[in-house]
Amino acid sequence: MPCRRANFTSRMRPLCFAPARDDLSPVPTEPSLHMPLDARLVQAVTEATEARRDAIIALHRQFVQTPSVTGNEGPMSQRVEEAFRRFALQTESWVATAEEMRNHLEHVGEQARYDGRLNVVGRRFGAGGGRSILLNAHIDTVPEGDPSLWSHPPYAADLVDGRVYGRGSCDMKGGLTTYLAALGALDACKVRLRGDVTIAATVGEEDGGLGALATVLRGYRADAALVTEPTQLALVTACEGSLVFRITITGRSAHAATRDEGVSALEKFIPIMQDLQAFGRERNATLSHPLYDVFANKVPVNIGVVRAGNWASTVPESLEAEVRVGFLPGEELERFKRVVRDRILGVAATDPWLRDHPPEITFFGGQFIAAETPVDAPICDAIRVAHRAVTGKAPKVEAATYGADMRHFIGFGGMPCVMYGAGDIRLAHGPDEYLEVEELMTAARVVALALAEWCGVA
Ligand SMILES: [Zn+2]
Repeated sequence: MPCRRANFTSRMRPLCFAPARDDLSPVPTEPSLHMPLDARLVQAVTEATEARRDAIIALHRQFVQTPSVTGNEGPMSQRVEEAFRRFALQTESWVATAEEMRNHLEHVGEQARYDGRLNVVGRRFGAGGGRSILLNAHIDTVPEGDPSLWSHPPYAADLVDGRVYGRGSCDMKGGLTTYLAALGALDACKVRLRGDVTIAATVGEEDGGLGALATVLRGYRADAALVTEPTQLALVTACEGSLVFRITITGRSAHAATRDEGVSALEKFIPIMQDLQAFGRERNATLSHPLYDVFANKVPVNIGVVRAGNWASTVPESLEAEVRVGFLPGEELERFKRVVRDRILGVAATDPWLRDHPPEITFFGGQFIAAETPVDAPICDAIRVAHRAVTGKAPKVEAATYGADMRHFIGFGGMPCVMYGAGDIRLAHGPDEYLEVEELMTAARVVALALAEWCGVA
């Protein structure tokens, strides 16, 4: 039902002056000037979201029904732009160019194409005097894979037992729907925010975050950023970095019958491989981070590709190995590259052949910087307060062991950024990906209230 315009303004106050722990106290049933969120606002947003349930589901299904595999986001961009206009957002869309990405390829990866991949930004300017926020959702998805493995067609967006099935349903078209549902709820409640809200629907996240970085390079900034990746309504404040590199080792070929006259590049690689594994174990044992210590292996080393030799009867004259090493917030990418390089060359220095023929180490596309926002940052408090108001509990605070666009907003945009959204990341990328409608509704309410809390109500 539409809600009347209540006076939601009296208790809105900047969170940064509030002690964080007090914000975890339960929401009262009666409005109070001293509680984190006005109970009437919480109630109004809850009702407004519920009243719009069918429309929210319909919007989400529409998004899922629009395929947008990384590299082919065009039709989805159009759909998003139409939706933004319906929500009276001032829109801007643009395509990132190879030119502007030239110096950033390490961070976003080589792109097969740039054309037609529209990033869409929708903005709503606030009444003034509040904090601004940048809301990000990537519109690309991974491919659907083998359709025969799906029990629901990947782009049908079937709604079954409270779940919407389809590629991108949880990763992360649900996140985009969440923002619009949240704005819709605030509109229905006639809430005017003080701070500016910018929604950036961006391309290429699955392949390095082209659109998110382009958004930052275009100058979009806010006092904080939120990414509604599927975190199962946990507040994720950190994402892990990953360094990807290729080791090339040169040996000397020889006929197998005289193999001792050759130098096997494969055999020269073995001590390097063993040392990389030891490096991973040492780092895991010695590094500590409050959010990552729960993981059995917080900084995995993965030797993902090894190519060597060309014939059973020939000593391998060359080897290429591709390796991915995880690193934690607090470890800086360029410094970490030097650490890895020194480690490998250190092993090589102990071998006479490798001393004279040192391995080549090439860092190629897909470097993910590690990034984090302090758990007591004001934006974290705004999410906590809103989550508690809706669910009655504090959200779990977690770290991600994967890279995500939040790193671009923190690392390049200099904004505090966190992730919080509906959906389970374990369902992403596989067949029968789905999103629970109830979780989407909860996320919408929480984000609506977090916006009120963060931006202030006029
Ligand atoms: Zn995602």
